[in-house]
Amino acid sequence: MSFLRYKQVIEVGDLVVAYLTRESASVIRIEAGAKLNNRYGEFPHDSMIGKEYGSKLASRTGRGFIHLLYPTPELWTTVLPHRTQILYLPDIAFITGQLDLKPGSRVVESGTGSGSFSHALARTVAPHGHLYTFEFHQARADQARKEFSEHGLDGITTLACRDACKEGFGLEGEADAVFLDLPAPWEAVASAKKALDPRKIGRICCFSPCIEQVQRTRQVLNQEGFTEIRMFEALSKSCDVKATKTLSVDEESSKTRRHLLTRRGIPTSLDEEGGDGGQEKDDRLVTKFPVEVRGHTSYLTFATLVPTVDPSQ
Ligand code: SAM
Repeated sequence: MSFLRYKQVIEVGDLVVAYLTRESASVIRIEAGAKLNNRYGEFPHDSMIGKEYGSKLASRTGRGFIHLLYPTPELWTTVLPHRTQILYLPDIAFITGQLDLKPGSRVVESGTGSGSFSHALARTVAPHGHLYTFEFHQARADQARKEFSEHGLDGITTLACRDACKEGFGLEGEADAVFLDLPAPWEAVASAKKALDPRKIGRICCFSPCIEQVQRTRQVLNQEGFTEIRMFEALSKSCDVKATKTLSVDEESSKTRRHLLTRRGIPTSLDEEGGDGGQEKDDRLVTKFPVEVRGHTSYLTFATLVPTVDPSQ
């Protein structure tokens, strides 16, 4: 199976995302005779074989159900085994857009970490682009390589186990964009510049949790000739949409009048109501944002490198 394609029917050996709710999902590999157990009961893998992806499956005890979903990079990010901090969907979407990544792009990433962003990058640049990803931790590099292979990303991804800061990327003029998620991104900026294609506008993004790292990175980007240096902070905000009754203008003003009179201790009666006699209008959808906004994951520093070589040469 491949994260780059879709298939209809679940077979032995396939990955399935067992989806309970937005907050609760897990990934399983289908094996004859195996079982998935969760708070809704027991789900034998045999009952999944031959079903279509997207199907709803009731537990053997009938206490609840799961949806059997095809693994996409988005779902993988929610279920993958964490070996490091990972990038989540709001940052992934924003970075991909700002780096102008699309099918055919060639992109460099370091470090690979748990491969959360790598999966999204590989799917974005497929089928003719390429992801070069660098991780210096041997066990993480081996595990990510194994997962890329199991998820059908071999042809589109090259993973090298090396120190991107000390040894560089070993690429010259081969990339359209570079993404750095490293403790000291400024140490990899010169190699990133070398990796970018001098015939095109090159783009870079550095993901850093603290502002001191942003300042050092900005300094080095400047020294290396990058321009349009901009920093963003992506904050996730949930929004509740609900139906509510709305009042007419007359009703609203008489409600306010009653409220003011009551506050002054003046008795009021419902007879004072004007307007259309208190009829409520149709339900309307309103959106409310909770006041509290969850803290950011990191600061995102972007910059561009103008072409230095005429593309016709
Ligand atoms: N963006 C990744 C994801 O979404 O799964 C997570 C990256 S994780 C926060 C940072 C990774 O960079 C770690 O796995 C670490 O081992 C690796 N790393 C740190 N310094 C490095 C270096 N100089 N060269 C290569 N990899 C490095």
